[in-house]
Parts: sequence; structure tokens; C-alpha cells
Amino acid sequence: MTSLKFPPLRLLLLALLATVVLLALPFALPGKYLLQLVNLGLISLIVVVGLNFITGYCGQINFAQAAFWGIGAYVTAGLTLNGFSFWLALPAAAVATGLCSLLLGIPTLRLRAYYLAMATIAFGEIVQLILVHWEPVTGGTSGLRGVPPVSLFGHALVGHVQHYYFLLVWCALALWLSLRVRASKLGRSMIALRDSEIAAEVMGVDTVRVKMLAFALSSIYAGIAGSLYVGTVNYVSPDLFSNTQAVLFFVMLVIGGVGSAVGAVIGTVVLTALPEALRFLKEWYMVLYGVGVILMITFLPDGLVSIRKRFTRDAARPAEAAAAVDSTTPVTLRAQRSAMPTGEQDQTVMAVGAVTMRFGGLTALDAVSLSVKRGSVHAVIGPNGSGKTTFLNVLSGAYQAQEGSVLLDGVELIGSRPSAIAKVGLSRTFQNIRVYKSLTVLENVMVGASCNTGANVLGILAGTSGQKQQEATMRADTMEALQFVGLAAFAERPAGSLAYAQQRLLEIARAVATKPKVLLLDEPAAGMNPQESTRLMETIVALRDAGITVIFVEHNVRLVMGISDRITVFDFGKKIAEGTPQEIQTNPQVIEAYLGRPREARVAANSAPSGQPKEEIHA
Ligand code: ADP
Ligand code: MG
Repeated sequence: MTSLKFPPLRLLLLALLATVVLLALPFALPGKYLLQLVNLGLISLIVVVGLNFITGYCGQINFAQAAFWGIGAYVTAGLTLNGFSFWLALPAAAVATGLCSLLLGIPTLRLRAYYLAMATIAFGEIVQLILVHWEPVTGGTSGLRGVPPVSLFGHALVGHVQHYYFLLVWCALALWLSLRVRASKLGRSMIALRDSEIAAEVMGVDTVRVKMLAFALSSIYAGIAGSLYVGTVNYVSPDLFSNTQAVLFFVMLVIGGVGSAVGAVIGTVVLTALPEALRFLKEWYMVLYGVGVILMITFLPDGLVSIRKRFTRDAARPAEAAAAVDSTTPVTLRAQRSAMPTGEQDQTVMAVGAVTMRFGGLTALDAVSLSVKRGSVHAVIGPNGSGKTTFLNVLSGAYQAQEGSVLLDGVELIGSRPSAIAKVGLSRTFQNIRVYKSLTVLENVMVGASCNTGANVLGILAGTSGQKQQEATMRADTMEALQFVGLAAFAERPAGSLAYAQQRLLEIARAVATKPKVLLLDEPAAGMNPQESTRLMETIVALRDAGITVIFVEHNVRLVMGISDRITVFDFGKKIAEGTPQEIQTNPQVIEAYLGRPREARVAANSAPSGQPKEEIHA
């Protein structure tokens, strides 16, 4: 991610310098006009840092920031004009915007990203119309004037200098809370779902809820900024809260760097200062602005904040990482929650009953039944396109089977979202790797480690000791999982910089951190050399020894025959055989499926496109 990492001393000096500059600024600026501009910039900053939650971290396009800013401003103006204190109006503005965001988010955030974009554009238009036409309340086009000044400890805030310091404190608070969210379970979940929604869900992240929280936070930031705006300029009029302004906020975030609070600050500063600095260009400014945005998107797609990374990008090279693979035997894993006292070891942990999954006319799974023993290693094999990945997708909730049942320790999984299934105790890895590329290795696994912990937004914002305790526990679980797969040395690396084989191990660590009863692995040895796959075999055996039941799909015969307690064979969506490795090796039907089929049929089966889990989640 774009967390700027300086040595502590340099960071301290930098912070000190920034503080001095910011405190001295009102006296260094020539004229009141510029200070007024700075104050407006500070208000924009809060709006854009807020926007970063939903658009930057969650990747959902939101054009409602100007409307929420307006709602905050009008609620504050209306209340204070009617004799209420600013300090009552401000929380009221926050509550009003928070509620509006629920109204807008609940129906749209379940859908694809662009639904929020469309809904927020419409919302912006509606708010604008209401502000202009509901004259008795909003004052129509002329707005509301003569709003009383903010009173702070009995002192009325007047003048740009006083407003400046007042706003500066709010900006610092907004930024600080934003960084705190980013460093928490909630922030990691937001970025995880942006990188891969399905991979976040199977780690127990309720993606709809997290998006909703992010959207509410964004809106509340805008609402509070609206309140502060009224407290600063003492009037409101509707023109400022238009969709044009919403686009400007959006551009500020994109130019600065989507997904980084620091980027949000840079973008706001640049786009507030630039129009002033280039005022002499008159209408040519817009041309320059357009060209500038295009150049930015072409050459700096990650925003201005990524400049530093561009110069230091060789810091984490995949090749170097690959050379340092830890090939020693995996350390043992503490017994997991599925570990059972001896005697109960023969129990069935998972019972799959007549599951049928159709894609249009194609029956990818045809009444598949399967029973998996607790603490066993159970392989699923079959030719390409025989339904193995589809089977894992149905078990983990990525696909909804049309018929059948899947019981995990007696709990029905069909019909539940992947995040709920993860909490029951089933986790998985993906055939086509889905690590969260913009998080570090450590953060990837921490997303898994938070599967069974509650997220309390207020606790995160307040930084309660319970919250810190929870983080520490998750971190310990995470380090254990990383040591287990031999990736502890790479904890601070961006996950995207790892070699393929390591990314597969990272997915295993992430899944293990959820403390699953059953772990599904889809072709874990794909792309691994013999040495790496040997270590993978040891890892799977160690998982079983820790009490985790492993169901895996694999083409590597040495691996399948070497470690499986039982093997199930699929062909054309049907279970054609099941038994011990010895039984399977000599089963005539299996040999037929792999070798005996007429050539044309085999070619057709092999060239069938392999199914990719869809990004959207079927609730
Ligand atoms: P395997 O993992 O055994 O190679 P898959 O489960 O990926 O096989 O695919 C089984 C069959 O289902 C294939 O014919 C595949 O094309 C089809 N299939 C898988 N996913 C989808 C999907 N999302 N939409 C349509 N067809 C799919
Ligand atoms: Mg597959």
C-alpha cells in the first residue's frame, strides 16, 4: 500500500517541520483572500479524505460527496438559525448524512460498483433540486444567510485566522481517524474487497456491510465538512453543492492517489492551489487542466502520491524473493478448533448430498454426493472441465447450487454468503491466485485472522484497549500462520511482489489464519517446482496433523497419491469413483476417464474453459 515509511527520526522531524509551517501559514500569506482560499481547501480536504474510504479503499465510485456536504451545511445553518448551538448542529449533520447514506447505500452497494456511481449522481441532482425549490426551508437560490458564528468556550470565532486554526484541528482529526481506520481490521477489509471481492468474502469479510460502513464514514466526513463550512462562511447557497463540485472532489482524490489518505491531501492541495496559480491563463486554464488530467492518468495512474514509489520501485523485486524461499520442513501448527479428541476422529465433518449445479444448459455438477472424514486429506481429481473448481465454489458459497445440500458439522451451507460460511469454519484458496495485491503479506493474513472477531467501528476510531488487544492477538495468529508456510521473512512485502509459488502459500496461510475446520485447496501445486511441491505436501500433512480437514483438487499425481487418505474422481460433473489411492490407481473407470476415452472427446474436455468464480456474490 502507499503507507509512507520513513525512519522514525526523519518522520519526527518532518512532522515537526509540517507543524511549524502550518502554524505559521496565516502570517506568511499575503492578504486575506489567500487565507480564505486555504480555509476552503481545508474543508475540501475533509470531504476528500472521507471520499477515500469508499472510493479509494473500497473502489466504489461515489459522486454524492457534494450533496452530503450540502446536507451537512443546510442542516447546520437551519438549526443554528433557529437558535440551536453549533455544537448540537454538527452531530445532527453527521447523523443526517449517515442516515441518508444508509438509504442510498443499502439498495445499491449489493450490486456492482457502477450502480453506486449512478445512484449517487441521481442523488446529487435530487438534493440540488430540493435545495433550490424548497424555499421556505432552504431559502431557495439565495440560500440561508446570517448564520451565527461558532462559539468556542464562550468565544465567538471570527476572522479568517481564527477559522484557519479551528479548521486545522478538524483536518488533523479527520486525517488521524482515517489513518487509524486504515490500520485496523476495517481498513484491511476495505482494501481486500477492492482487490478481490470473492477472496475477501471467503475470509469472512461481509463485503456488503464493510462497503456500507465505508460509505457511511465517507458521507459523515462530508456532512461534518458541511457543518464546518457554515461555521466558517456563515451562509449557504445551493450552487456550491452541485454534481460539478462532486466531480471536482473525485478528481482531487484521483490526482492525489486513490486509496491513500496522504494522496487525498496532496490532490486537494494541488487542485485548490493550481487554479489560483494559473489564474492568468484565464479560459486556457481548463484546456491545460484537461490535458494535465489525461497526462496524469497515463503516466501516474496511481496519483501524485506514487511518485516516491516510482523512484524506489526496485525495493521489492519478485526474483529476489523467489531466491529466498524457505524450503525447510514446515513448523508444526498449533491444534486448530476442529481438532477432536481421539474416538471422535472417524466422524464425518462434511456431508455433501446430491448437489447439482447448472450453467444454462451445462450441468457442471450432477447430483454429487460426498462424505469427508474429520481430520482426513481428501483429494478431488478428474479431467479438465469435470467440475472440480465448481464443486469447491459451491462448498465455499461462491456459487449457489440449484439442488442438494452441504452440511458442515450439521450446519447447512447452501444459501449462505461465503463470509457466513467462512465463520462456520470453511476456508479456501483459489486456482487462479487471488491475494490482495495492494496489501502486505502480513496484512493479507490478518484479513484471515480477523474472520472470527467482531468489528466495532467506534472502538476502532477511539482506539480502545480492547481494540489494541484484538490487533495484537490477530498479529500473533498471523505470524504463526506465516511461519507455518515459511513466509514470515516476507511479512512486510507487498503481496503482489511475491513469486507465484509464494502467493499460493500466502493464500494457504491466509486461509489457515481463519482457523477453519475444513480447508479447500484448488490446485495448490500449480506453478510449483518439485522441491516446492514436496514442501507443499509436508504442509498439507501438517495441516491435517493440526486437526484441519483438507479437501484439495490437484493434477500432480505424486502429490495426490502421496498424501491423500481418500480420493474422489469426477468426470463430466459426475462422481465416477471413490476410494484409497491404491483403489483409485487400479479402478478401470478411472483409467478409462483419463486414458481410454476416444481422442475427440478428450480434446473437447481438455479445452473446455475452466470456470472462474464470478466477482459478484450471489446472496
Ligand atoms: P475443473 O475445475 O474440473 O477443470 P470447472 O469446475 O472449472 O472444471 O468447470 C466445469 C464446467 O463448468 C466446465 O465446462 C466449465 O466451462 C463450466 N463452468 C464453470 N464455471 C462456469 C461459469 N461461471 N459459467 C459457465 N460455465 C462454467
Ligand atoms: Mg479447476
